Amino acid sequence: MSDIDARQIERMKSVFDAQKAAFKAGKIRSLSERAADIARIETLAKEKADAFCDAVSADYGRRSAAETQIAEIGFTIATAKHARKHLKSWAADRSVPVPMTLAPGKAYIRREPKGVVGIVAPWNYPIQLALAPLVPALAAGCRVMIKPSEYTPRVADMLKDTLGELFSEDHVAVITGGPAVGQAFCDLPFDHLFYTGSTHVGRMVAQAAAKNLTPVTLELGGKSPTVIAPDFDVEEAAKTIAWGKYFNAGQTCVAPDYVLTPKGSESQLADAIIANAQKFWPEPDSNGDYSGIVSERHYKRIADMVEEARAGGADVRQSAAPTGSNHHAYPPTVVLNAPADSRLMTEEIFGPVLPVLGHDGLDEAARFINERDRPLALYVYTKSKATARSFLDKTMSGGVGVNVPMLHLSVEDLPFGGTGASGYGAYHGEDGYRTFCHERSVFHAPVWHPIRLMAPPYGKLFEFFKKLQAG
Ligand code: NAD
Repeated sequence: MSDIDARQIERMKSVFDAQKAAFKAGKIRSLSERAADIARIETLAKEKADAFCDAVSADYGRRSAAETQIAEIGFTIATAKHARKHLKSWAADRSVPVPMTLAPGKAYIRREPKGVVGIVAPWNYPIQLALAPLVPALAAGCRVMIKPSEYTPRVADMLKDTLGELFSEDHVAVITGGPAVGQAFCDLPFDHLFYTGSTHVGRMVAQAAAKNLTPVTLELGGKSPTVIAPDFDVEEAAKTIAWGKYFNAGQTCVAPDYVLTPKGSESQLADAIIANAQKFWPEPDSNGDYSGIVSERHYKRIADMVEEARAGGADVRQSAAPTGSNHHAYPPTVVLNAPADSRLMTEEIFGPVLPVLGHDGLDEAARFINERDRPLALYVYTKSKATARSFLDKTMSGGVGVNVPMLHLSVEDLPFGGTGASGYGAYHGEDGYRTFCHERSVFHAPVWHPIRLMAPPYGKLFEFFKKLQAG
């Protein structure tokens, strides 16, 4: 462990103690205080938009400013606005009916802040994936520690500095560092741990949290399939598939990972996807709208996966030749006939490479998907609502897009989360608020409640209650 990591861990522990003490000592923050906390995040995203775009671009080598604006800044602002608008109704007590035998008491659910929560963020959307969970955590009234990714150090420092100016350290704090800091972070007895990242690390995080009985949300990844039904025009599907796949150079947890298209249409679809990619991002090597791969190591991983498939007999089609020279920009790529045991077909790709496979009908496509881990997202292209519904009946995934990838995650009122190997728990909108709340059950009896008549020795009243209970 480096000296810097050791210092961060030292600081992290004292911040954690300070946040715990502050939470125990303080009363629950009022709704107006919480609304003001969220408004600060909204203003931060608006006022520092350009600086955030520059920081993430410097971390990547090159990240499209437009993509940062859409997926990180705009997304954070929309999340904060939605939370401010709905905070009062989310926070209100929920009355529930009481059985006749307990009348005239009242029962209700109080949504209370869980306490001190930890957020671990990855590098692929380093601003959104730190701030979008921070908003509901603050809305719920929690105190928050954030651990950003070591692959986006400029963004991590900027989050630390800007949030440090807006909040006291015992309210919101950012802890920077790599896996060693991440591990020590997840060992802390948080009241909730919110982790976004790979399935591999997610398993370790779940184990660390279990030791403290800390509840966890795991927002993980996986291979999200895209299926084209025989009734859908592949040229039409190619337009949105190309956009969804190559946005942020495929480094998106809900990007299409592979496509299943009716047998015989594979080559036409591949050419149409490449043609659209060429239209959207001509000359990817020097195109400022096309994002680079986050690091040399990640670039090499992508390039190696493609070469492994090519060596195994795959047909590789690219919008331009890869040069690797400029900002790690790997060109939009489609791979036909990728071997079943190649890394392209066994690992989450998380880059601008799209295997296309043929299917013999939707039943076979569903079987192919069901033989693998449950994905975070699933996309189905069909003109028929009935076909879409029946395909959903046959498969499982965290979320679904019909006829378009990725957009389901922008609907604030849809819960966003995985299932099986793509994670558990969810956030966005009210689901995010509930994630960071304890739902406390309250039964409030009047000063004199007839249940007193139920005390032994049991007699006639007991017989009466028995009859009521039997209905
Ligand atoms: P990662 O798992 O390598 O790292 C994520 C975070 O975990 C980083 O902050 C890292 O420092 C920290 N970390 C590393 N080792 C740790 C350990 N042992 N204990 C605790 N923390 C540790 O993931 P990544 O490469 O940054 O992100 C890519 C993955 O994230 C992909 O699989 C992608 O699908 C997934 N992802 C999921 C979502 C979602 O919302 N479901 C969103 C974005 C990314």
